[in-house]
Amino acid sequence: MSLEERARRTRLLAAGAQTAGACRKCAIGAERRNNVYGEGDPCARLMVVGEGPGETEDALGRPFVGRAGELLNRMLAAIDLAREDVYICNVVKCRPTLRTPSGLRNRAPDPQEISNCTSFLEEQIAIIRPTVLLSLGAPSAKWFLGPSFQITKMRGRWYEGPHGIPLMVTFHPAYVLRQTGGEINAVKRLVWDDLKQVRAKLDEPPPEPLPEQASLFEA
Ligand code: SF4
Repeated sequence: MSLEERARRTRLLAAGAQTAGACRKCAIGAERRNNVYGEGDPCARLMVVGEGPGETEDALGRPFVGRAGELLNRMLAAIDLAREDVYICNVVKCRPTLRTPSGLRNRAPDPQEISNCTSFLEEQIAIIRPTVLLSLGAPSAKWFLGPSFQITKMRGRWYEGPHGIPLMVTFHPAYVLRQTGGEINAVKRLVWDDLKQVRAKLDEPPPEPLPEQASLFEA
């Protein structure tokens, strides 16, 4: 990819981050400590999309930096990708919270928040146009594939994402970390199966360009 193209994408993503940083469309926009727009290589071949920032992400303004982020880094390393080589973001850019007697807790984004935030993610995908999209967890998968998506039954296969980009869905690293006993290894095995498919897709040769000679159609 040319330096000019990299610079163009960097500029567009910075402008998107600035707009998201000023956005207060949802109540969580007023409560957040930081807007968590996304980070990574603007020319990434793999784009990872989670559901929303948690407490650590909100505090640091970066996606996937808590325990789940550490596991994501290990998942990427297992398929020979450094975190810096991919682009990482979430469906919503502000931390969805639940007020409890013991303080604020993370929660899944609600449909209105997801709808309000949709244009930011659409724009990120349009700018980066990765070779592969990896959706982590049910809220993210539902953004791509609709509300009837059931992650336990429907993960691990290829879907057509925006702009025809191949889309894989697997479990969110936070879900993996919540498992106990033998379950944790069973879930890790499923995630590993999905990641191997992502690696294989990234290793496929790019499609041959179509021939330009109109003479091919001459009698
Ligand atoms: S979640 Fe998205 S739409 Fe809602 S306030 Fe934050 S940036 Fe704006």
